[in-house]
Amino acid sequence: MNVAVFSTKHFDKEFLEKSNSSYRHKLVFFESRLTEKNAVLAIGFKAVCVFVNDRLNSKVLTELSENGTNLIALRCAGFNNVDIFKAGELGLTVVRVPEYSPHAVAEHTVALIMALNRRVCRAHSRVREGNFSLEGLLGFELHGGTIGIIGTGRIGKNVAKILKGFGCVLLAFDPSPNSECRSLGVKYVSLDELYSKSNIITLHCPLMPQTDHMISTESIGRMKTGIMLINTSRGALIDTKAVIKALKSGKIGYLGLDVYEEEADMFFEDLSNQIIQDDVLARLLTFPNVLITGHQAFFTRSALENIAKTTLANITDFERGLPCNNQINVEIMMR
Ligand code: NAD
Repeated sequence: MNVAVFSTKHFDKEFLEKSNSSYRHKLVFFESRLTEKNAVLAIGFKAVCVFVNDRLNSKVLTELSENGTNLIALRCAGFNNVDIFKAGELGLTVVRVPEYSPHAVAEHTVALIMALNRRVCRAHSRVREGNFSLEGLLGFELHGGTIGIIGTGRIGKNVAKILKGFGCVLLAFDPSPNSECRSLGVKYVSLDELYSKSNIITLHCPLMPQTDHMISTESIGRMKTGIMLINTSRGALIDTKAVIKALKSGKIGYLGLDVYEEEADMFFEDLSNQIIQDDVLARLLTFPNVLITGHQAFFTRSALENIAKTTLANITDFERGLPCNNQINVEIMMR
């Protein structure tokens, strides 16, 4: 099948081309993100393959559909960047990669927790400068600490498993509790209880209208002073301006982010020779107790292999008219 692959980096191309020797789709790579400005590039492609920051709003989907595209193949798990209901209305099929490596994201989450707690980045820069002072590097032990996990699906469950090994007390909130987590000793509680009892809160729920800005001035107010907040899920779960206020007051003691609500025009690009125009991100970068990575939690070799393989298999299933387990079912979502 003719596939227009958007937001292509050299690693996407490498892994997709390698896997494609077994599938033989005609892949055409575009470096740019798919937006309203360049949807025209997809003319003549039955399938469009996109990633987290491509913007498939109603206008883009309508243009794709009018130009003959039938399939949207996401190379990621989250689909908050696709207007799913519009896609359903237009008869577009949307497939995704629901599980490429929950371990990758869970491990990165714990890396952020550890690096923030023990001030690893600060210590590293100091030691390189010949400064061996311990001032400002004081950490705490995770053992015995209470961690609140919001969303215990594939990733949240793996975070729980790792933190269990550290001897943490694990609290969770999820509308669909997970029996595996329960047997690990995770205690499901209300959001209120999770906010008030946790020393660290880590977000692993999807971005949906109900979770958009769930971390707000109001919810931060219910948390312990000095809380460590980690977000490796989707940027807009957090109201970043509210978080900055709480960092300034000391209510939030540590912030670890792999995602940012306005990341689309910045993340995945080398902007080191430019002035960052986003004042909110620029302010975040000034705090000594904030650690930000640029949406790299998924970025492991095995995850890229799984993304490539599953994406191409999804496209083949569609081409052959076979049922695809990874299709997003709009009807179920509308119920
Ligand atoms: P998943 O679907 O397996 O799990 C999501 C869990 O969240 C489910 O158990 C669901 O019941 C729960 N949930 C739904 N609504 C909730 C709410 N209001 N409050 C609390 N929990 C709620 O998804 P996953 O594979 O674990 O991925 C989680 C998120 O991680 C994805 O939505 C995606 O946005 C993000 N992600 C980030 C990266 C990265 O590189 N940073 C990579 C992959 C996924």
